[in-house]
Amino acid sequence: MTAAPQPATPICAVCGTAVAADADKCPSCGLTKPGARGSQVLGRQGLWLLAAMFLVVYLVVLGIVALAR
Ligand SMILES: [Zn+2]
Repeated sequence: MTAAPQPATPICAVCGTAVAADADKCPSCGLTKPGARGSQVLGRQGLWLLAAMFLVVYLVVLGIVALAR
């Protein structure tokens, strides 16, 4: 998986307002750290949780495919 290229001006994920990359909050809707991406948003623990969720989904699909044969 490759990371999407960071736009020159980050936009808020909620309302789409252009915000400064180092802004603490969106000026329009108040979302915390709207310019943050990936690990900045999730943090280390969140990334591991996401990886674990992907693994669980993968194993469930694998189990369904194995049972369907
Ligand atoms: Zn916003």
